[in-house]
Amino acid sequence: MANKRDYYEVLGISKSASIDEIKSSYRKLAKKYHPDLNKEPGAEEKFKEVQEAYDVLSDEKKRARYDQFGHAAFDQNGGASGFNGFDGFQSGFQDVDLGDIGDIFGSFFGGGRRQNARRNGPIKGNDTFISIKISFMDAVNGKKIELPITIDETCPSCNGTGAQTPNDVATCSNCSGTGFVRQRSQSIFGTVETQGVCPTCGGSGKVIKNKCTACSGKGFRKVKTKIDVNIPAGINDGQQLRVAGKGERGLNGGPNGDLYIEINVTPDSFFKREGNDIHVELSMNMVDACLGSTVDIPTVSGTVELSIPEGTQSGQTLKLKGKGIKDLRSSSYGDQYVHIKVETPKNLTSEQKELLTKFQEIESKKKNKSESFFDKIKKTFKK
Ligand SMILES: [Zn+2]
Ligand SMILES: [Zn+2]
Repeated sequence: MANKRDYYEVLGISKSASIDEIKSSYRKLAKKYHPDLNKEPGAEEKFKEVQEAYDVLSDEKKRARYDQFGHAAFDQNGGASGFNGFDGFQSGFQDVDLGDIGDIFGSFFGGGRRQNARRNGPIKGNDTFISIKISFMDAVNGKKIELPITIDETCPSCNGTGAQTPNDVATCSNCSGTGFVRQRSQSIFGTVETQGVCPTCGGSGKVIKNKCTACSGKGFRKVKTKIDVNIPAGINDGQQLRVAGKGERGLNGGPNGDLYIEINVTPDSFFKREGNDIHVELSMNMVDACLGSTVDIPTVSGTVELSIPEGTQSGQTLKLKGKGIKDLRSSSYGDQYVHIKVETPKNLTSEQKELLTKFQEIESKKKNKSESFFDKIKKTFKK
């Protein structure tokens, strides 16, 4: 950082220059020194210097800091100001932020540079999506499955180069390996340069003399394979699992995309799921509800005994704590709720009718003995 030139001097502007003046000077100089256009020694250094000056002076805050502290404002090795969060300058034109320079050069070259930068850099492959159906109990308990998928595998014959031998890969002579070509044409504005993807190599910068026969020069092949997928216990309908690296292949050495598996759970006729809780309905006869009883009730983790307390009402809910579904991300479990439905018996035998008639008589005697609250109110009004 020693002997840095003053940023205003680099851009050839005065300290009071407006943002428009800064931009216009930057455009002029960036074009003049851009390494694609200027092959003179030192042009690249000049370009970086211009870029750096512009980064600071075009940003109001950075400019204010620079005006106050000079270069020390951005010296991370002990600048007086301790400028935090500043991520340094771009180290080379390849790394230049495309949002910035790409726009500017886009207007010079019809977007060619941006396209080129994208083409040559490693690109992550697209993600792929599939959906699978699993049973309700598999969702509850989890399951390991073998999933057949088709993936692009690097061709083992050519190691992905697409060439028969390493000597069959040559630098594209049409674009000298850059992947793009420039064309000059005359217009009323003078000589206009346009840039496009090299038609010979398709932007890769390389040509293959003898193609790999195993993959016809593609460098990869489609392979049907099986992957082990661990469906975790507690997964719910509509949730997705991500399998890293099993999506479409990356470009230019970029990583593969990811595979997303959407889980569709077939509903169960008995267990109804709400979050991690299970709801079931239990029909029981009137007498069991009156006297109380013990019943076997299925849960997702097996049958358990449920004691029905005396005098259980229809519509009442009994809770089986911890008998629901395991939480996907913790070791806790939901609960099972048993919704009681008391059924009135039909088709009674004469003996049953007799007994119930007796029951009825006792019930009405009980009623007369202890007047209901409602009866008392009625009497009060009669007085
Ligand atoms: Zn091959
Ligand atoms: Zn080419």
